[in-house]
Amino acid sequence: MNNTNKDDNLENTEDFIREIISKDLLEGKYNQIITRFPPEPNGYMHIGHAKSAFVNFSLASENNGKCNLRFDDTNPSKEEEEFIHAFEKDLKWLGFDYGHKAYYSSDYFNQLYSYAIKLIKLGLAYVCDLSQDEIREYRGTLTSKGKNSPFRDRAVEENLDLFDQMKKGRFENGSRVLRAKIDMSSGNLNLRDPVIYRIMKIKHHRTDYKWCIYPTYDFAHGQSDSLEKITHSICTVEFEDHRPLYNWFIDKLDIYPSKQIEFARLNLSGTVMSKRKLSELVVSNKVNGWDDPRMPTISGMRRRGYPSEAILDFCKRTSITKRKNVVDLSLLEHCVRENLNKSAYRVMAVLNPIKVVIKNYPDDLVEEIDALNNPEDLSAHSRKVPFSKEIYIERDDFAEIPPPKFYRLTIGKEVRLRYAYIIKCVDVIKNERGEVIEIHCEYDPNSRGGKSADGRKVKGTIHWVSALQSSTAEIRIYDKLISEEVIDENDIDNIQLNPNSIKVLKNCPIEISLSKASEEVHYQFERLGYFILDSKDTKLEHLVFNRTVSLRDSWNKQKT
Ligand code: ATP
Ligand code: MG
Repeated sequence: MNNTNKDDNLENTEDFIREIISKDLLEGKYNQIITRFPPEPNGYMHIGHAKSAFVNFSLASENNGKCNLRFDDTNPSKEEEEFIHAFEKDLKWLGFDYGHKAYYSSDYFNQLYSYAIKLIKLGLAYVCDLSQDEIREYRGTLTSKGKNSPFRDRAVEENLDLFDQMKKGRFENGSRVLRAKIDMSSGNLNLRDPVIYRIMKIKHHRTDYKWCIYPTYDFAHGQSDSLEKITHSICTVEFEDHRPLYNWFIDKLDIYPSKQIEFARLNLSGTVMSKRKLSELVVSNKVNGWDDPRMPTISGMRRRGYPSEAILDFCKRTSITKRKNVVDLSLLEHCVRENLNKSAYRVMAVLNPIKVVIKNYPDDLVEEIDALNNPEDLSAHSRKVPFSKEIYIERDDFAEIPPPKFYRLTIGKEVRLRYAYIIKCVDVIKNERGEVIEIHCEYDPNSRGGKSADGRKVKGTIHWVSALQSSTAEIRIYDKLISEEVIDENDIDNIQLNPNSIKVLKNCPIEISLSKASEEVHYQFERLGYFILDSKDTKLEHLVFNRTVSLRDSWNKQKT
């Protein structure tokens, strides 16, 4: 039970959990490794959970073991069926195989109840009538010892009788609790007679009204691990101080000793990762549901277009350590880009359009220009893109007074239209405020495909969409969810949503082939980023695209 201490010297090495497990296997301590992923169904799965699931499922599969999915559903006041289904769906989408069934802590309510009886009979648990506030007051602090409850020395028979009455619903919520009798002067607050059962006269999503007393997380978690014969119970470092308590239960109840190993939570810059905070954002409508593409939830990331492989790749690349750390969002985005670069279909769309009229192009001509679907994957072939006299380009691909090193369109200069022709700006039309509203150009008919016949150099290439032979879409551009870094999750009450976390662009011209876009396909809008159809808000006549990620990779830049 105290065997974790010997492993402490491993804790500073990368992937120390793997090393502990290999060592245990080498020493023949276990026949089979069993881990578990134990979410509390009080919110949706987020990337931190994905990291934990990744660690647990990979450790099991690498060692021919198994990993249980167990819902820690001991607190019926916060838990809902919806969250269970969402977790199952997200885990499957990520490819984690939890066997044919999920486990539930609530399956062990009978067993946990008999463990409580056993502790009472051993003189190691008592019914306490102090109020919640009094219990807190008696507990003391890190610097002062606690005080024994006046009910601590109740006789075993009286405790059994009172606990039975608690179970039968004879007492009001909060009027009594069952506490473990450990040590009110322990330096570890978790050992100062923790509450192990409380009265909660509410319906449980699985056991209905069968129980009106429920075990606390601390009483249920370790014992559930033990009942499932979990060999390595991997959790996050907040539970390090709970380990002596879990070991006390295991020792006194004389049950299977699962070995708890802690690692640092995954934190991600630009977002928050606590279900409580995420739930607040959802309930207050600050975001558009748990699957809002800005959320760090797996459902949000799926809707935004993050491929599951990229999320797994990210989980793999973030190391397992004991030290608190914040991973930069740019690493996750880098994984997404790397994956999408290989698979995404290249297309053209314009986010902020300005019209270009090609004066010397025949009025009624529409040419079908060949465009590559994916230069990274030539089996993806090419498609035809219509080209005509009037096209749209990005407003900022034109500058009347170009800054230095501006290789795009400006008066008197040439630029290449991707896959099409070289054009030269000859004039602009302005409105009464002096703003350019239309650009007039001439094209070089001998430059189809983008190459000049006389070999003259044209540096810039810009994307475009034919003005008539095109479609339109709403395009949503996302930025990080919160403005400041939240390293201490206790500070989350004061964080502010990034006011620019979403930008909605309406009526953006998109190339005509996108009018048949599929929800399953990832697109690269050339020069703009990776996009996917929004699975919720897209209607037949109203396409909505989410920008998954831009093309600029700040992770690579950081490394160089
Ligand atoms: P939250 O505040 O998000 O609800 P939690 O730890 O209370 O976090 P649980 O549903 O209890 O959420 O977590 C299920 C499992 O996922 C636990 O083993 C937990 O340690 C792990 N986990 C949760 N968040 C993270 C994270 N950010 N990084 C790594 N593991 C995490
Ligand atoms: Mg929790």
